[in-house]
Amino acid sequence: MIRLRNIQKSFTRPDQGQLDVLKGIDCEIDAGEFVAVVGASGSGKSTLMNILGLLDIPDQGDYELAGQLMNGLAPDELLTLMARLAGPSASELPLIYSDADDPEQLAVEALCRVGLENRLDHYPSQLSGGQQQRVAIARALVTDPELILADEPTGNLDAEATEEIMQLLDELHRSGRTIVLITHDPELAGRCTSVMSIDGGRLLRREAA
Ligand code: ADP
Ligand code: MG
Repeated sequence: MIRLRNIQKSFTRPDQGQLDVLKGIDCEIDAGEFVAVVGASGSGKSTLMNILGLLDIPDQGDYELAGQLMNGLAPDELLTLMARLAGPSASELPLIYSDADDPEQLAVEALCRVGLENRLDHYPSQLSGGQQQRVAIARALVTDPELILADEPTGNLDAEATEEIMQLLDELHRSGRTIVLITHDPELAGRCTSVMSIDGGRLLRREAA
């Protein structure tokens, strides 16, 4: 599903000069995998996720998604592809660009799938952190994406809400979707099929225990 070859990304900041965040990432993620990405704060996890979600482009290297090279895509091709991905940051796009006959019905179905059928009339501020994360996942499910990118979806949640989100992701994985989950929590990473850690701008992969 995903193949990365020598992905490099640097940022230039006026005060600190050039920061080399990703220094040559190689990896392959097969369809149906549930991969955890771990690493210290600032190690480049979100930078990598943004590249996977087509929100950012690498300075160097090849990104192949579902057999198609992502380098130099035209904007309309990019939008079509983004609708096939799901992630917290990109997740609002699919709804806006959805050509479904009844987008509202799709939204209601997705909210029911994440267990929020009793909260359909609530505003975001009336929902708990865990419920808001479930809404983010529901939003991502509207277009029935093949790939789900989740950047620390349980970062601010208590143990119970974390477990709910994890069970939802488990269920999506069992239904055949490919998931990349960034997490700080070794226990959650251990429940994935594979763990990749970013350290010093490079990626190490090991199978989960
Ligand atoms: P992580 O998600 O692992 O905590 P990030 O990928 O967010 O790390 O960031 C990696 C490093 O790159 C950090 O030092 C961060 O400050 C820097 N960085 C990320 N995005 C930018 C940007 N747009 N401009 C400048 N520096 C950035
Ligand atoms: Mg991050």
